[in-house]
Amino acid sequence: MSEASRALLFRLFGFKSFKGSQEEIIDHLCAGGDALVLMPTGGGKSLCYQLPALLRPGVGVVISPLIALMQDQVDALLQAGARAAFLNSTLDARATREVERRLFEGDLDLVYLAPERLTTERGFALLDRLHAAGRIALFAIDEAHCVSQWGHDFRPEYLQLSALHQRYPAIPRIALTATADQPTRQEIITRLALEDARIFVASFDRPNIRYTVNEKNDPRRQLQAFLADHRGEAGIIYCLSRNKVDETAAWLNSIGHAALPYHAGMETAARSDHQRRFQREDGLIMVATIAFGMGIDKPDVRFVAHLDLPKNIEAYYQETGRAGRDGLPAEAWMLYGLQDVVLQRSRIDQSDAPPQQKLLEGQKLNALLGYCEAPRCRRVVLLDYFGERREVCGNCDVCLNPPELFDGTVLAQKALSAVYRTGQRFGVMQVIDVLRGKDSDKVRKWGHDRLSVFGVGADLDDHTWRGVMRQLVAGGLLHADLTQHGALKLTPEARPVLRGETAIEMRRQLAGRVAPRSKKGASAAITAELSPPAALRFVALRQWRADTARAQGLPAYVIFHDRTLKELAEARPRDRAALAGISGIGAAKIERYGEALLALLADA
Ligand code: ADP
Ligand code: ZN
Repeated sequence: MSEASRALLFRLFGFKSFKGSQEEIIDHLCAGGDALVLMPTGGGKSLCYQLPALLRPGVGVVISPLIALMQDQVDALLQAGARAAFLNSTLDARATREVERRLFEGDLDLVYLAPERLTTERGFALLDRLHAAGRIALFAIDEAHCVSQWGHDFRPEYLQLSALHQRYPAIPRIALTATADQPTRQEIITRLALEDARIFVASFDRPNIRYTVNEKNDPRRQLQAFLADHRGEAGIIYCLSRNKVDETAAWLNSIGHAALPYHAGMETAARSDHQRRFQREDGLIMVATIAFGMGIDKPDVRFVAHLDLPKNIEAYYQETGRAGRDGLPAEAWMLYGLQDVVLQRSRIDQSDAPPQQKLLEGQKLNALLGYCEAPRCRRVVLLDYFGERREVCGNCDVCLNPPELFDGTVLAQKALSAVYRTGQRFGVMQVIDVLRGKDSDKVRKWGHDRLSVFGVGADLDDHTWRGVMRQLVAGGLLHADLTQHGALKLTPEARPVLRGETAIEMRRQLAGRVAPRSKKGASAAITAELSPPAALRFVALRQWRADTARAQGLPAYVIFHDRTLKELAEARPRDRAALAGISGIGAAKIERYGEALLALLADA
């Protein structure tokens, strides 16, 4: 079987070898086994069901909640020379009948199905007839974490998918997700009746993503500087509120970046239009709340920026994971400040969730704060959270620009005392003013200039003190009470520090930004790796791809990925045989685009 699947991999997709456990998964399915596949975004999940669907008799039935993406997925398969179609609410009755006819005539290798389409009487009746005709190759359940009732992607129809097992026990099933955490994994197994499935867990590392966390002090200026290194690239900027999304998008446009807003408060039509444009056009920035999420399958998102702290590490991993699916260099960049901690904590405190849930959310937030303040390699901390051990990565801000650590016990004591002496009724500003001995009206009004702590921190600047306060809040020694305008209060953990029983290690504020990968961003990073003539060819190839995609109404990456263009520019193949040697060019694409590519490369 391996022989056949490798041949198909090459002929259809133009790839020479499998990635990770793709081959094992494919063999397992072809032999009739069930599988649960946990693989990060960009890991290559699609091939794990596409190839077995092609290799086994009948059609592979793919259940996916991402209706907006089905057209693109089908287009990509058609481009590769496979026979594929979809059934969802966007089709009219005639088109639906046509797809159904093709199903029964054995004219399709893959059919994508929206879950709500399947779990109706009519849906199951269709499958029953297909099954009776012996025409089902397998079931693939994509985005399998949608079955989890606690996740924010929950789809009730997914709960009915266990019926697939009861009705068609002999048909192999494969469930796939990029969600890493253990409880969700267990829920998928139980709810989809996958107890007998083989579980394939890939590493959740995304080596091409560079992680950076910066202290938030002047967010717009910081964002602008960051974007200056990413001109013309596609990226996502996450903000907490709808207002901030709208404002940020408008501001970005005013300074010459093409940005679109996306949040749940927008009209549905505008929202899907923005999503569609982001997916299809090159180099757009999507400014979004977390409502913009699962439906993104764009391989060339070069950066994900967080202007506000996400909810927890899982959310952060998911959101940043949308960058760099194509394996080329990408950035996960976050700004993080004291206000974020305060906001997220009070969001938890003030929610209506049961106490147990609040406790759990609080712990998850702490883990994220630990990540932000960590003096260790970000990747090590991140993967450790998912139970994976790692060596330091060399591709995060901490590795590239290690923060200086120092014994912050005395600073902590001064800050905690100042909070205590001022009666635990004041916010950060006032406490810092007192520490620095600032003779302001507000300080005098409350008589804080007469306290013993007044001026004990005059040797340090505002910025440094803010860093200290943030680390104390993040570390759980201080609690900011939002119901009292952010008044700082000591927690029980502060006591041993005040008494000198516990030492506190702190990191000094990062002086500057980590040097960017290249001055002009990742597509420039690609050309920078090429010789000058190859770089010119790459630019010409991109132009050709844009024109070709537009002429067919397709997203550019459905024609070829950047990676393939890069290889073409480097290798400059002279004939069809040489073209076939380029990764990402299968037989159908040679038929379709071979002549044009050879002509272009001969001239360029
Ligand atoms: P996922 O669904 O896990 O996010 P995809 O299936 O979209 O990942 O694949 C991610 C990228 O990896 C795609 O660009 C795909 O073409 C590429 N890819 C997948 N398998 C291989 C392989 N065996 N060799 C080379 N590239 C591959
Ligand atoms: Zn690192």
